[in-house]
Amino acid sequence: MSDVLEVKNLSKSFGGIQAVKDVSFSVKKGELLAMIGPNGAGKSTCFNMLMGQLKPTKGEVYFEGQNLIGRPPREIWRMGIGRTFQITGTYTSMTVVENVQMALISHHRRTMAILPYAHKMYKPEAMELLELVGMQDQAERHCAILAYGDLKRLELAIALCHDPSLLLMDEPTAGMAPTERIKLMQLTADIVQDKNISVLFTEHDMDVVFAHSHRIMVLNRGELMANGSVDEIRNDPRVQEVYLGGGSLFEEAESQA
Ligand code: ADP
Ligand code: MG
Repeated sequence: MSDVLEVKNLSKSFGGIQAVKDVSFSVKKGELLAMIGPNGAGKSTCFNMLMGQLKPTKGEVYFEGQNLIGRPPREIWRMGIGRTFQITGTYTSMTVVENVQMALISHHRRTMAILPYAHKMYKPEAMELLELVGMQDQAERHCAILAYGDLKRLELAIALCHDPSLLLMDEPTAGMAPTERIKLMQLTADIVQDKNISVLFTEHDMDVVFAHSHRIMVLNRGELMANGSVDEIRNDPRVQEVYLGGGSLFEEAESQA
């Protein structure tokens, strides 16, 4: 597998707080890679640097061989790094399929042309994406009445509109019930395989992480303390210590079981 993303010594300080310290890793083609760690470990800070929303204090990031540092978020998005937006990213007054069409129109830079013809533009392409996430039957429903889990699937379809080769998902299942989380990540895993894209995601639910990741990285106090297969991470005493000592993820997973 070749590397899609290569991160070297990525660091970020906020005043006196070093939120991310010399983090280095790579994401391989077709890989579903989880970044886990207690609250405040620096996960979102890492994601924001990869998406161009935060400028690193230090470090290098290469996407398909091109340096990303210093590029604005829009440019990084156009290069092929997608992200799932929060619920507010969907227009609740529009139907499901219209939301996907809008994203496709924006991707193809056809926004000037939208007024009279928007309802016809990219509809077959939008329906294809909805089918991919199992939402084709809900295409004509208004987003305002969708169930939360369905909105999340719609967000995924929208994120796929510009055909990214890497998707960044920071807590994609936040606010979902455990069974819904498993389903959303299973869907993501199927799409990753189908389209041969890579996903870097963060997730609190350890059942989801262990069930769907190809590889897991553990961030603790800004530092990458482990990077390995599901079995390696599950059996790593240092990881267990962080979680049990810090009173978070493993306990959370057990209390949900
Ligand atoms: P995680 O996503 O793993 O929960 P974050 O990346 O959000 O962690 O936060 C890492 C650390 O950086 C925390 O100590 C947090 O308080 C701090 N931090 C994050 N964003 C900012 C900011 N904009 N200004 C100051 N401190 C921040
Ligand atoms: Mg976070």
